[in-house]
Amino acid sequence: MSLTGIVYRPPYEADSLLLEVTRGCSHNKCTFCYMYPDIPFSVCPMEQVEADIEKAARIRPDVERVFLEHGDAFVLSADRLSAIADAIHQRLPRVKTIAMYASIQNIRHKTDADLLRLKECGIGGLDIGVESGLDAALAYMNKGHTAAEAREQLLRLTEAGIPYSFNAILGCAGSELWRENADATAELINAVQPHLLFVGTLHAAPGCRLYRDMKSGAFRECTTGQLLDEQERLIERLDLCDTVYFGSHPSNIVPMQALLPEHKPEMLEILRETREQLRGRLDQFPVRGGEGSILNR
Ligand code: SF4
Repeated sequence: MSLTGIVYRPPYEADSLLLEVTRGCSHNKCTFCYMYPDIPFSVCPMEQVEADIEKAARIRPDVERVFLEHGDAFVLSADRLSAIADAIHQRLPRVKTIAMYASIQNIRHKTDADLLRLKECGIGGLDIGVESGLDAALAYMNKGHTAAEAREQLLRLTEAGIPYSFNAILGCAGSELWRENADATAELINAVQPHLLFVGTLHAAPGCRLYRDMKSGAFRECTTGQLLDEQERLIERLDLCDTVYFGSHPSNIVPMQALLPEHKPEMLEILRETREQLRGRLDQFPVRGGEGSILNR
């Protein structure tokens, strides 16, 4: 494959075929993002995509899931995405799902008919950085959507039958608004009932605005105790029918994978036990390693 530079993908796409159809991210201005600073957004020529599919058909003819790269491949028009899906199905007939990162704006720019057509092409498993249900946090993080817009567009996806992951970031409203962030994010998640909820924790790397704001004090990071409290408050308020909670990102103080609502009591118990274990360190900030992994669990 002709993937360029560092390649990002969700952890559960480890076995998927990664297929480059765009480079960079069409938004590329989230306050916390350091993924594509020097890569101007561009769309890969269809000839390149077809040549890569041809190569993949020789190397991995039995692959069942494809993940389209990079930052928000769902920005492509419904025509382009269905042409890519057709090319994939022609040469890789066992493929069942074509997944990719998507933003709320990407969904907004598609009609209901587009969404239904894309569902019919096998497009699903959209990985969506909603991040928060709190408008103040969304505005600071420069996500380009409000909570109401996220709700509207995610419900359109559900209506079209396209499954997705709702990605949320603990701590993204900072130390002053962690309670409000937990409450508003739980409210949004409850309203849209995602099948998959991916929870990570805010971290910043040099080069992004958030990193500079943390250094200058313009953004006050949550302490370890506040992050645990926010996670507990969020989970307490979740009222879900059938959701996989995927919280094993290395940025989290307490990695956990669970089913909701079944495992809610155990999840809350684990958080309370962790708070006891970390007593004495709750006012400190988590020590970070590579890609925001927490070192002082
Ligand atoms: S949409 Fe995703 S890839 Fe693009 S700037 Fe935001 S976080 Fe980064």
